[in-house]
Amino acid sequence: MAKIRSGFLFIPLERIFANRADQSIFRPEWREDLFYYLVSSLMVQVLTFLTFIPAKSILAVAPLTNVRAWIGGLPFVAQFVAIMFLTDLVQYWVHRAFHRIPQLWQFHAVHHSARSMDWMAGARMHFLEILALRGTTVIPMFVLGFSASAMNAYIFVVYLYSTFVHANLNWRFPVIEKLLVTPRFHHWHHGIEREAVDVNFAIHFPLFDRIFGTYFLPKNKWPTGYGVPESVPTGYLAQFKYPFRRDGRVS
Ligand SMILES: [Zn+2]
Ligand SMILES: [Zn+2]
Repeated sequence: MAKIRSGFLFIPLERIFANRADQSIFRPEWREDLFYYLVSSLMVQVLTFLTFIPAKSILAVAPLTNVRAWIGGLPFVAQFVAIMFLTDLVQYWVHRAFHRIPQLWQFHAVHHSARSMDWMAGARMHFLEILALRGTTVIPMFVLGFSASAMNAYIFVVYLYSTFVHANLNWRFPVIEKLLVTPRFHHWHHGIEREAVDVNFAIHFPLFDRIFGTYFLPKNKWPTGYGVPESVPTGYLAQFKYPFRRDGRVS
């Protein structure tokens, strides 16, 4: 329940510091996105169990005892930062694959079909994509032997962070935005502009987009709108079925 409450903290912040002041809390499709938010918050235990299956399977065949002992003995802060880097590196390439491989894009198009950015919008994600993304990003964290306290701290932070980067907040971070992903950076990932296609895949460190050539952050500008050209249906169930539709059309 703590996770549900943390999302609601963004409501007053978005009222006071709105980037799009004309956007109401009850913007189009708010019910659908709130439903996504509640489903992923309430199913956290099931999701966590499923998420760790690939990592546990790898650990079973590759115990890495010495490496795990060394990493588990590092200071908490070093472990936390290392987890952020490793998970974001994996996340970067999985996310990029979801954009570049047409069959995977059918799943990820659901996330990108949101036409309004706010604290609820980030929760709109196909259930199987959540499993794929989390199942792969936890592999380095779990297999390399990071301590339970560092992993738990990271899981809590990434949950808030992914809500934050979608939020309708006009906060400016002139120096920080070069180092850490901010709402403006991730909003460009969702932008409808041509230049916004397939850019800014990182979730924590824009450095990865700089290294791999997908960085896009025009000075002080925000996208004019959000969404995808294809017509993704509205609502949780219709969107769940969307990648499996009969005609198999891959646009
Ligand atoms: Zn994306
Ligand atoms: Zn997003």
